[in-house]
Amino acid sequence: MATMATKSNHLPLGDQRNAPFYGKDILSVKQFSREDLTYIYGVAHEMREMVARIGTFDLLKGKILANLFYEPSTRTSSSFTAAMERLGGSVIPINEVKYSSVSKGESLPDTVRTLECYADVIVLRHPEVGASALAAKYARKPIINAGDGVGEHPTQALLDLFTIVEELGHVEGLNVTMLGDLKYGRTVHSLARLLSLYQVKINFVSPELLKMPPEIIEEVKEKSIQISEHSELEPVLAETDVLYVTRVQKERFENLDEYEQVKSLYVITPETLKQAKKKMIVMHPLPRVGEISPEVDGDPRAAYFRQMEYGLYIRMALLAMVLGKA
Ligand code: ASP
Repeated sequence: MATMATKSNHLPLGDQRNAPFYGKDILSVKQFSREDLTYIYGVAHEMREMVARIGTFDLLKGKILANLFYEPSTRTSSSFTAAMERLGGSVIPINEVKYSSVSKGESLPDTVRTLECYADVIVLRHPEVGASALAAKYARKPIINAGDGVGEHPTQALLDLFTIVEELGHVEGLNVTMLGDLKYGRTVHSLARLLSLYQVKINFVSPELLKMPPEIIEEVKEKSIQISEHSELEPVLAETDVLYVTRVQKERFENLDEYEQVKSLYVITPETLKQAKKKMIVMHPLPRVGEISPEVDGDPRAAYFRQMEYGLYIRMALLAMVLGKA
């Protein structure tokens, strides 16, 4: 399987071949252990310090990233671009596949085999579950999954957990509430799996229609994580340390009447946060489309804008790692 295989035999000389993630694909959070996370967060910390101190530096000078996005993106695509450029590398942006040979009917394996002739690493977002794993099977260069349909979004989960660590100082023992579209939201699929490496309590709050998929509940339960499922936020809000709010994923609904029924069931307002702990955080992978009212933005517990910045350091760390420079 290409998942954890090091594709180092095709990478240029001079790289640090002993670096732990050198030449690896990043496809799912399932590939990470707690030790890996400690390592990644250590590198991300260094990246944060370097950016604060000197802004841009030459760690990946001469390296090229291909950013291949078959679905819309603002944060993931631009943060990978910023990450590569802050490390002195450059980017081939393919954000509009309709202007590429994809619109002529080119297959994903052929497209990645093309891009790897020009780039050292490929970041891929695609509407189908498993697309990154498929790409990784064909590519000699590392593939980073930037969201595969309703499947996973591993780099988002890494930055989400990094946000929790940076903001609250630890993960162990926390009470995490995930709210909204738990069925189609790939970020919560990845985050629930990643959190299950720790002793946490997870509350899933959603309408019946948008419940967390049973296979993910099973996976998390197997790790002896305490979980609870609710349709209202109220019973779990007061004990919550991390409130992770999600958007209802309109683009995944076959029946738009169903979307209309569930689209605005939960809205976080300053009134909601009166019931919450003084020391807790509100997160959101963004974009938000009404789930958190803008009046919450000024509350120090609103961490969603800071969360985006943490994403830059995580993506810098990942690029440096898979290219053997960290
Ligand atoms: N930006 C996140 C994603 O790509 C969350 C969302 O779109 O709601 O999954």
